[in-house]
Amino acid sequence: MGLDEDSLDYHRRPPPGKIRISTTKPTQTQRDISLAYSPGVAAPCREIDDDPDEAYTYTAKANLVAVVSNGSAVLGLGDIGAQASKPVMEGKGVLFKRFADIDVFDIELDQDGADEVVRTVDAMEPTFGGVNLEDIKAPECFEIEERLRESMDIPVFHDDQHGTAIISGAALLNACEISDKELDEIDVVFSGAGASAVACAEFYVSLGVERDSITMCDSSGVITERRAEEDDLNEYKRRFASDAPKGDLADAMDGADVFVGLSVGGIVSQDMVASMDDDPIVFAMANPDPEIGYEEVKEARDDTVIAATGRSDYPNQVNNVLGFPFIFRGALDVRAREINEDMKVAAAEALAELAKEDVPDAVVKAYGDEPLRFGPDYIIPKPLDPRVLFRVAPAVARAASESGAARIEVDEEEYVEELEA
Ligand code: NAP
Ligand code: MG
Repeated sequence: MGLDEDSLDYHRRPPPGKIRISTTKPTQTQRDISLAYSPGVAAPCREIDDDPDEAYTYTAKANLVAVVSNGSAVLGLGDIGAQASKPVMEGKGVLFKRFADIDVFDIELDQDGADEVVRTVDAMEPTFGGVNLEDIKAPECFEIEERLRESMDIPVFHDDQHGTAIISGAALLNACEISDKELDEIDVVFSGAGASAVACAEFYVSLGVERDSITMCDSSGVITERRAEEDDLNEYKRRFASDAPKGDLADAMDGADVFVGLSVGGIVSQDMVASMDDDPIVFAMANPDPEIGYEEVKEARDDTVIAATGRSDYPNQVNNVLGFPFIFRGALDVRAREINEDMKVAAAEALAELAKEDVPDAVVKAYGDEPLRFGPDYIIPKPLDPRVLFRVAPAVARAASESGAARIEVDEEEYVEELEA
């Protein structure tokens, strides 16, 4: 059977979909029922009425994340609307559960405008320990997340932006180390100026890249200061407007150290890669087809070129599942009020460090038995590596505590033991 048919069958098989709710406490006796519901349930209600933080003690809030979308930018399918996005959001719930044992309510909102989405999500704060915004189109996604982060006292995280930024940021840290490049000295060229590109660029600045060393291209070429004015570009693109003369992606890539593709497949040639500086770094992350294929990148250069794509069939796959389950795990476990820059940097650094360690045999086997050793073809851990949970979640929890985002402190040693159990 082909993938499409197989998938339809997978989703259709009774019960339809792929998630369900289950209870976690006994429900056998009359007594159990009167504890779970009226009249016994009034006792935890009173506790929470006295102290709202007790919701983390007496309800499922502490392990519950809302995956929220309006279906306006779903996978590569575009604006397919809320209802058609539901299989994706249920799927996100499956990944949260599978990788970090986090429960998800998927919420598909039939709303287009930023004001409506903000009002709806903001009102759901009592239910959840965190909000994962998903597949909302740019530039509305920036405004929606910014406003919700401001108004809500639980983490709000747009995964299409920051997941990509954190994973590729980890890859960038290690690629620079291998290629002997300093973060504050590299010239970085972006193809794409949408949700993921803008977030990656901002995050690389947090990691130490100079804002002025970033050149960003959208579908009309290099974003220059002149274009920012004349074309009335949105404020997020404007932040990366450069004083370079008008030009296209090929002009921008000439002599660059790093290429970051978050645009569309097939738009980078081997000549463009050949024109880059010594030992360049090429992250071609458009899905399903990268801006330029892994093998083409390698062929275009005689020196050490480090290539990463979104594809699972080549080395260095940048896959968001390496991030969001573990970042939320760490954030939820300290009842964090937000996922801030320190927590994101901590996640990227933990991923980068883990890639330098020996890889367990079971992980090597799961990926076709090819050796996995820190170097140009292994710059980030593999998604199925169980150690990612034990490293990233505690790093995020620690950064939350140190930056004042945590509601509670956890003993790190005990916490790691609990995760491993
Ligand atoms: P988006 O918000 O729609 O942004 C797409 C950007 O690409 C826009 O800025 C657009 O320019 C630009 N673009 C389109 N055609 C172009 C061209 N010929 N040359 C240069 N730029 C071009 O989309 P997104 O969510 O950021 O995702 C972008 C791509 O990255 C998708 O292919 C997505 O699958 C991929 N992605 C991969 C990963 C991963 O590997 N983990 C994660 C996230 C995203 P305008 O602004 O002028 O329209
Ligand atoms: Mg997404």
